[in-house]
Amino acid sequence: MYDDEGNEYLDFLAGAGTLNYGHNHPAFKTLLLDYINSDGITHGLDMHTKAKREFLEAFNEKILKPRELSYVVQFTGPTGSNAVEAALKLARNVTGRENIIAFTNGFHGVSLGSLAATGNSHHRGAAGVSLNGTSRMPFDGYLGEDVDTTAYLDKVLSDSSSGIDLPAAVIVETVQGEGGINAASFEWLRNLEAVCKKHEVLLIVDDIQAGCGRTGTYFSFEEAGIKPDIVTMSKSLGGYGLPFAVVLFSPEIDQWKPGEHNGTFRGNNFAFVTAKAAIDHFWSDNHFSQEIKRKGEYIAMRLNAIVEKNGEGNFTTRGRGMFQGINCVDGELAGKITRRAFQNGLIIETSGADDQVIKFLCPLIISDVNLKKGIDIVEEAISYVCAKEEAMPEENDYFDDVHIDSE
Ligand code: PMP
Repeated sequence: MYDDEGNEYLDFLAGAGTLNYGHNHPAFKTLLLDYINSDGITHGLDMHTKAKREFLEAFNEKILKPRELSYVVQFTGPTGSNAVEAALKLARNVTGRENIIAFTNGFHGVSLGSLAATGNSHHRGAAGVSLNGTSRMPFDGYLGEDVDTTAYLDKVLSDSSSGIDLPAAVIVETVQGEGGINAASFEWLRNLEAVCKKHEVLLIVDDIQAGCGRTGTYFSFEEAGIKPDIVTMSKSLGGYGLPFAVVLFSPEIDQWKPGEHNGTFRGNNFAFVTAKAAIDHFWSDNHFSQEIKRKGEYIAMRLNAIVEKNGEGNFTTRGRGMFQGINCVDGELAGKITRRAFQNGLIIETSGADDQVIKFLCPLIISDVNLKKGIDIVEEAISYVCAKEEAMPEENDYFDDVHIDSE
């Protein structure tokens, strides 16, 4: 990316997981421009169009069928939050129960229903009303590495006096993005699925940020070997950064009445075109997935080395695939590091309750050279900030030597 003055930046934020295929992928751009030039339908409410049919065919043939998934595809409003709203409503209507189990540090959106499932107090505080209908459970690792928190969930669901109402569904991110790149283990996910099955509770995987290849497979839950009843997707689904969201669910629970969850912008035809292009281009075979895993291993190797060099304990690594982070424990410290990185040409964000985790979310298509360059910039930034902190722990203005136009 280039700023107004022509300075060059690498983008390791990538639209918070929306630009897995990079900015303005040339192959998708050509197809989108062709579609516009041929006067393809731009807006069609939720009606059928050729672009929609072609997206659905590609999604079914290249994504669902090879993974033996036979989901119904529901087009919701184009935000992730709206897909989550639809998923929660569906689960509640199908089961006739209200409660939804959500996890500590989970992020599912900021509209009222999805916000009730989101943990972050900053976002919850803006609701202005009480957020109802959810119960909070500890995510994997929340109570320490050795505690399997699904056993606790099983216990409270088995005990009619636990005070936790039998839920309609459990909603989970396999890797919590906004919550600080907390990756659930495959075993924990399998146990979670088993607890859901045992208590006849629906399992919703929110794959809005972790999906579309981020963890190394198209769906983030594939390697765990689980099959959620409901999956929410958005962000990189549209391929080109265009707004687009869907809910996928088992045909048996398709109990929507026509138009119950409606919305004007449920059919973004431009996004159908680029979403199909992304599937055709990257997901027709296993090559892309292998590439993500290879780059993910490189990222893990580099981040572990950085943490080792700077003192384990102050810093730790987390995540999987190309969804990894460095936990700086201290949000202020993480902020200084990302600020230094920005000065050196890297756009990179933090996440977690205190913004303490530096979040490496570069496009999956990044070249090896740029991947190395971006990580080198973070490595330098950590050394720079640590050295400054040691030399002048009370000083906060050691950035003044470099001009940043924060306006
Ligand atoms: N779920 C997850 C896992 C997300 O990461 C996000 C966005 N950060 C959302 C839901 C909400 O998506 P949107 O911002 O498009 O409403």
